[in-house]
Amino acid sequence: MECVFCRIVRGEEESYTLYKGNGVQVILDKYPVSKGHLLVLSEEHYEGVHEAPPEVLARVWVVASALARIYRVNLGAPGVNVVTNSGVTAGQVVFHFHVHVIPRWSQVRGFWSGRRELEKGEAEEVLDMIKPYATLIEEYLITLGFSES
Ligand SMILES: [Zn+2]
Repeated sequence: MECVFCRIVRGEEESYTLYKGNGVQVILDKYPVSKGHLLVLSEEHYEGVHEAPPEVLARVWVVASALARIYRVNLGAPGVNVVTNSGVTAGQVVFHFHVHVIPRWSQVRGFWSGRRELEKGEAEEVLDMIKPYATLIEEYLITLGFSES
């Protein structure tokens, strides 16, 4: 059984990618709970937050935090969730470490409610909306000495 996120990292599976480099990849969730729902993946395969080494955790979380900042400060989202699920019991579906960044444009009713399949038009809108600010991702990685560039 092949890991879908490993396939995405290798470019064998399509995804809407906002950023790729320095050990992480940021994609749009295929089944977003809100407009702009992102996933930050580690490029290497680890089952979850309980398995990834600290350096990988740091890269992924700092990128997720940069995205949270972009949503709150640059794009005016009134709220954002940054969350990871570890284990079936916790709702993990893909067993490759990833952190969800979920902007909240209106009050949360049920955390995962409203999931639906991402449409191409919406995906392109979201990428256009974030791209002007995406340099913050590199800035955060550079601050921690995690960027090659
Ligand atoms: Zn994987």
